[in-house]
Amino acid sequence: MAANERVLVTGAGGFIGHHLVKRLKAEGCWVRGVDIKQPEYESTAADEFEVLDLRKYEHCLLATRGRITQVYNLAADMGGIGYITASRADISRNNILINAQMLEASRLNGVAQFLFSSSACVYAQYKQKLPEVTPLREEDAYPADPEAGYGWEKLFTEELCRYYWQDYRFETRIVRFHNVYGPLGTYEGGKEKAPAAVSRKVALAADGGEIEIWGDGEQTRSFMYVDDCVEGLLRLMGSDYRDPLNLGTDRLISINDLVDLVSEIAGKRLSKRHDLNKPQGVRGRNSDNSRLRQTLQWEPSVPLEEGLTITYRWIENELRHSGRLSKLHSARSAD
Ligand code: NAD
Repeated sequence: MAANERVLVTGAGGFIGHHLVKRLKAEGCWVRGVDIKQPEYESTAADEFEVLDLRKYEHCLLATRGRITQVYNLAADMGGIGYITASRADISRNNILINAQMLEASRLNGVAQFLFSSSACVYAQYKQKLPEVTPLREEDAYPADPEAGYGWEKLFTEELCRYYWQDYRFETRIVRFHNVYGPLGTYEGGKEKAPAAVSRKVALAADGGEIEIWGDGEQTRSFMYVDDCVEGLLRLMGSDYRDPLNLGTDRLISINDLVDLVSEIAGKRLSKRHDLNKPQGVRGRNSDNSRLRQTLQWEPSVPLEEGLTITYRWIENELRHSGRLSKLHSARSAD
């Protein structure tokens, strides 16, 4: 990473964007962060932070002005499975506007490299019907059958990035994240993902109590700690690889086992109540990291137990400070 880069991070008020800004500053870059909101849990490390709505083209032009060399385009309307299955029209429209206009504004303002944050939700659903799923290789996105709304939009923007390279020789990088988790991410309100939601539920439950799980809990996923995610982003931007690349771990775990792991970290014995009426997404999803290893000579390495411990403690602390953990729970978890 060249210390003299002038970098724009969109979505810098969000989870991954906020962590990425901190890392880029530590690397010595000049950083502009843009979002429709400020970071929620601590102030930004960016040199400049602008509140802009990237659904508006003139705001995309403002965001990319002033000799920006690299754009990490992380801004998106997104959330956990409940949110993305309930708001398909809004998510698709908002993200199409953000991505199409950010690409064009970046090109017109002379940006050298543009990274698009895609998702494992682009993968064909017919390949994810079993909990013991075969890890997904990059080519498994076709023939296309992605997650409705959010997945289709991501897949189309991947194509759009390719067209910008083909037609304009505009340098794009495309990363497909598989479930990123860590501290300083949304943990309530409907947009939180499984590790944060599970951590919140476990923190709020009394020892010996019960927590609700969406679906039968046998659905499987892999999870990547946010520091690994940021490392992968910097490595991909530093490479000359223009095709979509998985960025995730290949350790598959069921949601039931994830709950047991978090309960163990919390030191609580909890029983699970499965709500089969809640959305649970595809049955199984895992990352095949062959191309990641080959391309970046690296892959994520933070063990789930370690990353979840940090995440759980942070969420527990947040809940304690907001007064939502009873005195009894607080005393117990401080033991
Ligand atoms: P996040 O929701 O925490 O961050 C996204 C940010 O984009 C938010 O702060 C939001 O306010 C901002 N945003 C939304 N609409 C905007 C607009 N019109 N103008 C400006 N900013 C706007 O999500 P995240 O987990 O940090 O995800 C970052 C990127 O990674 C997203 O593109 C997401 O689709 C992708 N991704 C994340 C995961 C994951 O597990 N976290 C998995 C796959 C893909």
